[in-house]
Amino acid sequence: MPLPTLKLQQSTLLALLGLIIGLGFILTTFGSYYASRETIRNSIINTELPLTADVISSEIQKDLVRLVQVSSAMAEDPFVLDWVEQGERNESLITRYLQAIKQRYNASTVFFVSDRSQTYYADNETQQMQPDNPAHGWFYRFEESGTQWEVVVDVRRMTMFINYRMTAADGRFLGVAGVGLTLTRVLELVDNYQRRYQRNIYFVDSQRRIAATGSQGGPAGAARGAHLDDIAALADLNAKLPKLRPGAFQYQSEGEQHFINIRYLPELNWYLMVDKQESGVMAPVRRTLWVNLLICFSVTATVLGVVGLISRRYLQRIEAMATHDALTELLNRRGFGLVAEQALVEARRQHSSLCVLIMDLDHFKTFNDTHGHLGGDFLLRSFAGLLARQLRQADVVSRWGGEEFVVMFKDTGLDVALALAEKIRKHTEAETFDLNGTALHVTVSIGVAQLQPEGSLDSLLHNADLALYRAKSEGRNRVCLAAVSAPQDLPH
Ligand code: GH3
Ligand code: MG
Ligand code: MG
Repeated sequence: MPLPTLKLQQSTLLALLGLIIGLGFILTTFGSYYASRETIRNSIINTELPLTADVISSEIQKDLVRLVQVSSAMAEDPFVLDWVEQGERNESLITRYLQAIKQRYNASTVFFVSDRSQTYYADNETQQMQPDNPAHGWFYRFEESGTQWEVVVDVRRMTMFINYRMTAADGRFLGVAGVGLTLTRVLELVDNYQRRYQRNIYFVDSQRRIAATGSQGGPAGAARGAHLDDIAALADLNAKLPKLRPGAFQYQSEGEQHFINIRYLPELNWYLMVDKQESGVMAPVRRTLWVNLLICFSVTATVLGVVGLISRRYLQRIEAMATHDALTELLNRRGFGLVAEQALVEARRQHSSLCVLIMDLDHFKTFNDTHGHLGGDFLLRSFAGLLARQLRQADVVSRWGGEEFVVMFKDTGLDVALALAEKIRKHTEAETFDLNGTALHVTVSIGVAQLQPEGSLDSLLHNADLALYRAKSEGRNRVCLAAVSAPQDLPH
């Protein structure tokens, strides 16, 4: 019979255990997930992206320094100065000179503009400068500016130019020497970084237009010339940064977290943008999270399963111990009470007859005195075996206490109960119990009662007990019917 309190305690124990283990696992799993996410984020924000920006901007710096060196060397080259001072005769001399420079430094253009003759000499062409030609305006603007050198980016040709001022020994303005270098090498580096580290790297000019990108384009594949405000994927970033400024920022794009490092390149008046999407980096961490959760779940389930199994076994044993008699293995008084109450409810509902027998072995005290307590125990066990053999599975047999036994017959009329009682009595009388070679005999007195329409289990047992008392007083080894249980009055 289940003991409801113990069952409840077992489920409470399992729920509590599951809660403690599960909570512990979940807390540590999510704790380590958030810790690694934080570490990765920090390393992206503080190390990876700034490092990439450093590498790219220093590559640009390197190119610029080289360009400045070459153009300053040209502007100060005695050959060029002499050639100009001597009246720019023999144009092929300067052309060959420019070609040699171009080859040596792998430049895309090398030129010299003479102020005196207003001529533009390049490695492959010569042009007359026109002050009113907008394409030549840069020369006059630079002459006016008075600066030693300037960087100009031709976005259309993706080329960086250095214009370097050339002056005579007496400080006279002689013209401009210049070198152009395509941004190919820088953009190859950008491509390389994009491919290897899944970063999007692009340049934005001061007007917030994309000035240069790698071969895969800018954010969301935007092309050169696109305005940042027109790129839907950057809506969140644009809202946060209506005016570009250097720094590390985070923004959302199409449901994804992005980290971006913005670096200002003063020589080009461009912003270098190094952007990284979080999900790519987080995928392995997230995968580990799921695997860990799965492991936690399996371990918790296994622990609960094992504990549940073991505790169920113990529970069953405790239940059996609490409801059964250790000597005869029949139900004890408590076990009988639980089953009998249930049987009573069913009998009332189904309007069926229910009968009990109370049996008491005759002169058992004398038996104990003669054969010892162990002999008495042996007889009690043997009598329980006899009962089991005489009765059906559905009959509720119990050891009521001492040498008293109670049997309940469900859905059984009084006449059948009486007949069964008589059968038990006869078999007991006739049985020879063999105790280590000693033949033992015993008789039993039985009181029989039937459940009354308004009766309770207590009154039923009380009536049967009275009948048993009568059986004893009328000479023992007999079956007596309770006075109230006249067969003709009772429902069947
Ligand atoms: P009666 O015919 O009037 O029933 O006589 P009785 O001797 O059987 O009387 P009573 O019911 O007073 O005695 C029961 C005895 O059963 C008393 C007790 O020593 C013995 N007894 C009770 N429980 C056990 C038990 O578990 N083992 C053994 N061996 N004896 C028991
Ligand atoms: Mg007795
Ligand atoms: Mg007794």
